[in-house]
Amino acid sequence: MKFYRKSSEEVMEILDVSIDGLSEQEVQKRRLEHGYNKLDEAKGDTPIKVFMDQFKDFLVIMLILAAIISAALGKYESTIVVIFVVVLNAILGTVQHIKANNSINSLKALSSPVSKVLRDKMKKEIPSNELVVGDIIFFDAGDYISADARVIEAHSFQVNESSLTGESESVTKEIEAISQDDVSIGDMKNMVFSGSYVTYGRGVAVVTDIGMKTEIGKIASMLENAKARKTPLQETLDNFGKNLSIAILIISGIIFIIDILRDKAIIDSFMFAVALAVAAIPEALSSIVTIVLAFGTQKMSKSNAIVKKLNAVESLGSISVICSDKTGTLTQNKMKVQKLWVDNNIVDSDEATDQSLINKLIQFSVLCNDAIVSGDSNIGDPTEIALVNLGNEHNINEQVTRNAHPRIFELPFDSDRKMMSTVNAYENSNLMITKGAVDTIINKTHKILTSNGVEILNDEVKAKIKHDNNSLAKNGLRVLAFAYKEYKNESRPKLEDEDELIFMGMIAMMDPPRPESKKAVADCILAGIKPVMITGDHKITAIAIAKQIGIIKDETEALEGHEIEKLTDDELYNIVENISVYARVSPEHKIRIVRAWQKKSMVVAMTGDGVNDAPALKQADVGVAMGITGTEVSKEAASMVLTDDNFATIVKAISSGRSIYVNIKNSIKFLLSGNAAGIFSVIFASVAGLAAPFAPVHLLFINLLTDSLPAIAIGLEPHDESIMKEKPRKRTDSIINKEFIKQVSTKGALIALVTMIAYYIGFSSGSHLVGSTMAFATLCLSRLFHSLNCRSKASVFKIGVLSNIYVILSIIVGSLMLLFVMNYPPLMTMFEVSKLDISQHLSVIGLSLIPLVAVQIYKLIKDNNSTSHEQIDKVNHLSDVA
Ligand code: ATP
Repeated sequence: MKFYRKSSEEVMEILDVSIDGLSEQEVQKRRLEHGYNKLDEAKGDTPIKVFMDQFKDFLVIMLILAAIISAALGKYESTIVVIFVVVLNAILGTVQHIKANNSINSLKALSSPVSKVLRDKMKKEIPSNELVVGDIIFFDAGDYISADARVIEAHSFQVNESSLTGESESVTKEIEAISQDDVSIGDMKNMVFSGSYVTYGRGVAVVTDIGMKTEIGKIASMLENAKARKTPLQETLDNFGKNLSIAILIISGIIFIIDILRDKAIIDSFMFAVALAVAAIPEALSSIVTIVLAFGTQKMSKSNAIVKKLNAVESLGSISVICSDKTGTLTQNKMKVQKLWVDNNIVDSDEATDQSLINKLIQFSVLCNDAIVSGDSNIGDPTEIALVNLGNEHNINEQVTRNAHPRIFELPFDSDRKMMSTVNAYENSNLMITKGAVDTIINKTHKILTSNGVEILNDEVKAKIKHDNNSLAKNGLRVLAFAYKEYKNESRPKLEDEDELIFMGMIAMMDPPRPESKKAVADCILAGIKPVMITGDHKITAIAIAKQIGIIKDETEALEGHEIEKLTDDELYNIVENISVYARVSPEHKIRIVRAWQKKSMVVAMTGDGVNDAPALKQADVGVAMGITGTEVSKEAASMVLTDDNFATIVKAISSGRSIYVNIKNSIKFLLSGNAAGIFSVIFASVAGLAAPFAPVHLLFINLLTDSLPAIAIGLEPHDESIMKEKPRKRTDSIINKEFIKQVSTKGALIALVTMIAYYIGFSSGSHLVGSTMAFATLCLSRLFHSLNCRSKASVFKIGVLSNIYVILSIIVGSLMLLFVMNYPPLMTMFEVSKLDISQHLSVIGLSLIPLVAVQIYKLIKDNNSTSHEQIDKVNHLSDVA
């Protein structure tokens, strides 16, 4: 159906919908017929496919090959064990993959787009996939268009359709029918299409097609799931893992050759070399990162921060500057009018009597206003809601007033112009009513309405207005100016028409800081993060609020948008560190501020809510959108969405980002030090000319039991508050540095040492089999205990032994399985272990505890030293202050 050729009335008739919208009953009926409004996505991998993928690894193939050869040689036991271990490993891998994917998908669902529709006469917000053909949808600047629809109302309605047409210029939409046939999408001026977004103005449209029937659905008949990109951390670890694997393969190859030279059977030597490589190569590195990130972000979503891109978590951990909007993020966004200014006087809002000038000002503030207040549900911008509330307090009801003076045209608000206008029918003529920032409006007025009528606005009165505006702003009030003029044109007004206005007065409202902002700002400063306020509001208002919450000390730290304009990028770069408040800023200034900080090698978080904020959100290292007040476009561009619009949530998210990074580092430390212990033991035995301390099945069992489960458990360590007392991590700091390698190798060597002692004790008291059983059990158990060492920099006694129950569980499960393998006769034969007596069992336990005890004692001593240093620092600091 060519809806663009029909008039809007015809379209409504064809789609069988009235101006009241569809009824919920009708919606259900249409949904049954056409389904949900979504595009077919390529199906994710099935569990079977994920399971099969686990066998693609080169080493696993080698292992299976060795097992088959073993079977051919009649050694069925080791074949069974290898197959058992490989399958169990694959099952574990599959479960982890599916769990991580599920939590990433549920995060995606949390940030899915919404649409505003009219149903049963009520305007409401619904998830966009619930739209049906015939729904009436409303659009404002910054909204995504989620279905194809015929425009039935347009007010400076401009849409960016680049995803469909490739044309980056916005298209102005109209409502008139198009008479030509076969019009291209770009020329269908009375249609809007799914996949595009509103850049300016307001519009209403009726849905004509949904899901795969939309134009975008036709182009992308099958949307490929964008392949998940690896995070920088995963890439670093992948590269490191590759280099390490090569080294381990070389070591395994050398051991294979030595074994053969020592007349060991080829298949046994091969099996051992492969098992050693499997046990020593940390194949789980990158998947551990995904799992810890996925679980970490799930937890963050419960504290109101929805992370949309996993790599944002890494950047969050190293944020050194937060550029935050003021209104709604640092403040409560609960505006309440406090003062009015008319006829050269400031009056308190509750003392404002029913003077005609005051009444007229309030009436105009309700007309040049899009907010709707009905009972508890307020729709619209809090600034405008405050004005409607003011009207109600003065018996100027918004519905009655708007019905009496219907709106004919409008020039919508945008944060670049910092004002808006409407044209309303008013006492036999049409009036243009304009409201906006005082400094903008005053330049567009030449007269003023006073109790003596309309007078010329001379410089003296202008100066008085500016002075009064400043004194209101000094108290942290947001001040709006109102002006009007008779509008004689028949046609839609242009931006140039907002001129030669008559000044009416000002309305000042309070938006108090959020109670938690002050502490969050202090936390930032303690954590070495610079908080910066960027606001469209007046400089003096911004400074007043910034002082209350501790962002600014001195007024010289504030800069205005027009001052930024005069600066070159280099000049801005030179002063950026000294500025804490930017006022009267337009969205394009934001991107310059982000770049200036980034040039200083700072990692920047930037908040934004409007459609024009999208470029700055993309440029920032972490773009943060507002879940409640933000536009759909800003949410799409951001890498994190705050469901409570709260600055304090960003600070909490940074703390989580830092903790998640530390947890990942600790998991990897655990994995690598355990693997190092295994390989050190084998190399030592080989160099010392001893028989191999482990059978291949031992290595496989250790790999299965002590690898990923405790590593994931360490990754789930509760977040440590004290992490916000440290400076941010530099972006260039690699996770794998000298200190990391030193720690991994010393811990690995310590575990290898106790393992070799166990081997020696067993070997000298009995046989090689007893020796290797004791070595196997000690390596296994000490690695499990070592997981407690890897939980934190601090000692477990300080952080609480039981505070991470997952680690305790993984130790218990691992120990029980080991006990079972060592004492249940059928498994004993399979796993090539001999029965140990009590004293040997006790030796194994005692030796396995040594790395734990030694590291804990070391940490306790270090903790004590650093606390006494801290105390000395404090005393010094106090004496400095004194
Ligand atoms: P922030 O950038 O911290 O969110 P903000 O809400 O003040 O602050 P904008 O929404 O860009 O930023 O508003 C900029 C200025 O435009 C305001 O200070 C006010 O003077 C004016 N203004 C805000 N809302 C409206 C509106 N609905 N109609 C007319 N003028 C407005």
